[in-house]
Amino acid sequence: MSEARYVVAVRALCDFTAKQGDLDLRFTPGPSAQEGIAGHIEVATRRGAGYEAEVSLSGSFGPLLVRGRADGYDPVRNRLEEVKTFRGDLSRMPDNHRHLHWAQVRIYGHLLCQSRNLSELQLALVYYDIGKQKETLLTEYATAGMLQQFFEQQCGRFLAWAEQEMAHRLTRDEQLAGLRFPHVDFRPGQRALAEAVYKGASSGRCLLAQAPTGIGKTIGTLFPLLKASPAQRLDKLFFLSAKTSGRALALDALTQIRRSEPALPLRVLEMVARDKACEHPDKACNGESCPLAQGFYDRLPQARAAAVAAAFDGAMDREGLRAVAAAHQVCPYYLSQEMAQWADVIVGDYNYYFDLGAMLHGMSVANQWRVGVLVDEAHNMIERARKMYSAEMAQGQLKALRQAAPVSLKRTLDRVNRQWNALYKVQQDEYQRYPDLPEAFLGALQQAVADITDYMVEHPAAMDSQLQGFYFDALHFTRMAELFDKHSLFDVTVQGGYGATLCIRNIVPAPFLAPRFAAAHSTVLFSATLSPWHFYSDTLGMPADTAWVDVPSPFAAEQLSVRLVTGISTRFQQRDNSLSPIVDLIAQQYRLQAGNYLAFFSSYDYLQKVAGLFAERYPEIPLWQQARRMDEHEREAFLARFTESSQGVGFAVLGGAFAEGIDLPGARLIGAFIATLGLPQINPVNEQIMRQMEQTFGNGYDCTYLFPGMQKVVQAAGRVIRTREDRGVVYLIDDRFARREVRQLLPQWWRIDA
Ligand code: SF4
Repeated sequence: MSEARYVVAVRALCDFTAKQGDLDLRFTPGPSAQEGIAGHIEVATRRGAGYEAEVSLSGSFGPLLVRGRADGYDPVRNRLEEVKTFRGDLSRMPDNHRHLHWAQVRIYGHLLCQSRNLSELQLALVYYDIGKQKETLLTEYATAGMLQQFFEQQCGRFLAWAEQEMAHRLTRDEQLAGLRFPHVDFRPGQRALAEAVYKGASSGRCLLAQAPTGIGKTIGTLFPLLKASPAQRLDKLFFLSAKTSGRALALDALTQIRRSEPALPLRVLEMVARDKACEHPDKACNGESCPLAQGFYDRLPQARAAAVAAAFDGAMDREGLRAVAAAHQVCPYYLSQEMAQWADVIVGDYNYYFDLGAMLHGMSVANQWRVGVLVDEAHNMIERARKMYSAEMAQGQLKALRQAAPVSLKRTLDRVNRQWNALYKVQQDEYQRYPDLPEAFLGALQQAVADITDYMVEHPAAMDSQLQGFYFDALHFTRMAELFDKHSLFDVTVQGGYGATLCIRNIVPAPFLAPRFAAAHSTVLFSATLSPWHFYSDTLGMPADTAWVDVPSPFAAEQLSVRLVTGISTRFQQRDNSLSPIVDLIAQQYRLQAGNYLAFFSSYDYLQKVAGLFAERYPEIPLWQQARRMDEHEREAFLARFTESSQGVGFAVLGGAFAEGIDLPGARLIGAFIATLGLPQINPVNEQIMRQMEQTFGNGYDCTYLFPGMQKVVQAAGRVIRTREDRGVVYLIDDRFARREVRQLLPQWWRIDA
């Protein structure tokens, strides 16, 4: 029988054993991934013939298998090189970064000596300045014996931890293989969903799952993926959701699963955004500014062990991790990043896996993890992904910054401003799309980024939020400019006295997301509204063999009376004519059956007009209105009016806070009126999106207007029937609901009454 193995990447090993001192983000942001790759290639091409780049190495220490790829080996000089790209002043790089880099190259050094029978070696840290394209070399000589001693010392420090990890995974996987569903039985539809997820995971395919509300999708996807994990040798699961409520449901479901008999040792980590987790928002992330960054790596081992020990009480959710961090005086946000390495299930926002520099994707690739990914409420993915891969800069921000910027940055910012003005000097219309990116402007912006980087490095304490905000926007803009292609467009919107807003607007995120799907063993996108599925799979870049399941609804057609009101047009031009018949319709239904209703409109203006007339004509019927920019407390108060015994009509906006993700079962909601097709507004931006979608997929109008609109309609109507006991009515108000192509997008279980 072969000895159990624990595989660890060189980088991960050194992160564990050789990090010390303060957490210090002053030498960041570092180069982007693309810049890093380009820097490595540049260094390699400067070397002579015979130079070996990307040398795969591995070696053992007891049960540990340590592996990785050294950046380069020059056999003529007998020199092993570790390349690090950077920006700014190298002398300001914190000592502990250098310490870590030496540890990495020494480990590679040992592995190389061992594999090639070398008795000694020159080790080099090659620091490559991305801006100046200059190398700085630090070298040392080491004998094979010295390197072996270092390797064994580092592995020795990691061994005890690796052994408890192996024991944890063994127990975890044994129990997962025999895991039982935490409820007496599956709900109708839940089993079909669970089977599809299990099959997807077992065959290593992606899955798009449309499954109705109320069947328990969260546990219906988590359970089968966990159960499939041991056979598929999955290292981790990521549950990603667009909303806090979705993440809370996942944490609850995982608590139920963990409480199985015997208790399942599953480490569940909740990832929270930095601004929500930070204990000192007025400070910077370095030891001189923040007490929780000072000595962070010295206290991390104890905090890490405590977090793992407490994980079985759910202590790796936001509050639990915060308590552990407080007990050990370390930053909770960076502790959560560290714990991602050791968690079994990670619950967080989409961006942790899908955005440009996504942490979980980066870790998965670097550590060669086999991961299963669940994407909750996936109908949000297209819009969210487009935002992740778009970049926008408003000139008003630059103008304000120029007033307050440090003197040394004035020239560079003025140059950006001049190029910015030149961009729209002859632009006739308020909005215009341009076929190419503005090279001169980008040159000025890149120079400004380099100058601000130098300034930041020299004045780490002097960074204000305005400068920082501009800097990050400019950095993102230049990065998206490097990746500009047919998937995106560039446009300029002139805003009167405020200058112009520039946007690199992603339309088809597929080229960016396809590698994310490819990096996961299996990804499941699920939602109540994913029709037509090819629109989602094509736009998101899912693999060609992606499976599709449309889980039948557990609800009977008799539960929901769907009525088409096609004698009314809700188009903008006919809107005023629609007010009177709509208020009469609502009142008529209310008089027929008093209870709680929601009425949805395409805009606040429309909502206010209908609500105003309704209040005037039917003052005896209670009426509640959604207001613009309601905070969480106000939203809760709005929903709290819908009780088992209340009666009234709530007026809300389609696509807004009350049109999806809310649960009003039983008498809390007995009907909905939807006075719109939900089509996005026709404006120059959407018209350009339509053209781009037409060029890419051939059905630009449907992809831009009809599919997103109807997705919102079905989500809103889905608020009415939440359980098999519910009964209700939905009125779809607009003449276009009579069209075949529109009705085809309604759920199959609905029966149209009239
Ligand atoms: S507590 Fe806040 S300021 Fe301090 S290290 Fe953490 S995130 Fe940075």
